[in-house]
Amino acid sequence: MALYCFDVDGTIDCKENDSEEYLKGVIKTDVLLDLEKQGHKIAIVSSSPFFPEKWKGDNYWFKRNADGFCRLQNIRDAQKYHGVSDYETIYIDDLKGVLTMIRDQSNITCFSPKDFLSSIQSINT
Ligand SMILES: [Mg+2]
Repeated sequence: MALYCFDVDGTIDCKENDSEEYLKGVIKTDVLLDLEKQGHKIAIVSSSPFFPEKWKGDNYWFKRNADGFCRLQNIRDAQKYHGVSDYETIYIDDLKGVLTMIRDQSNITCFSPKDFLSSIQSINT
């Protein structure tokens, strides 16, 4: 089991959401559902409300800090909730700066949305 932590804006493609403020990403929510089916945990660690209702519960949405600079603290909240270490945690974000920050401050595996999609495709094929 791994914990997959996601940014929202520019990362997730949520077809339920057609708000103009919403910046569509490349990861379809079906991918999150698949990961859950495989026994992995999903956490949304961005305070953006633009993702499906299914992941809006307190057990999925770790949004204590709205500031992107505090993203690691939201990931830590999700890790604490699920009892996992950095080595079992994967973080996906479309902003290179945030990925670099998380890599520098932790041992969490970080992916851009595109690299993440190719990594799971290579596991599944
Ligand atoms: Mg983003």
